[in-house]
Amino acid sequence: MVTRRQRPCLDCGTLTRNPSRCDVHQAAWQARQNQQRGSATQRGYGSAWRRTAAAAVSAHRAEYGDWCPGWGVLPHHATDLTGDHKVAKVNGGSDEPANVQVLCRACNSRKHANR
Ligand SMILES: [Zn+2]
Ligand SMILES: [Zn+2]
Repeated sequence: MVTRRQRPCLDCGTLTRNPSRCDVHQAAWQARQNQQRGSATQRGYGSAWRRTAAAAVSAHRAEYGDWCPGWGVLPHHATDLTGDHKVAKVNGGSDEPANVQVLCRACNSRKHANR
């Protein structure tokens, strides 16, 4: 019979059979993870923002059609336009229509990846 090796808890060093943390700190770590994930509303993507973003996309479509201004690429045809924060909420950006940037999904994720 193989007994699983004990390892020191990453937070307090107490030996534990858990993979990384003692029971106490495992629970605390889990709680932290849940908090960080947060809800969409906490991260600033509540229903008010979604309406603002949707309105911005409609206005953009009315003016330019299915056309993405491009992010890191030239403007191009795109039907999957989305509204995104020009200045991210964490950086002090607001939910005002002026802070909405309309991009296609591909450009949007490119922008997020390069942030
Ligand atoms: Zn611990
Ligand atoms: Zn695009």
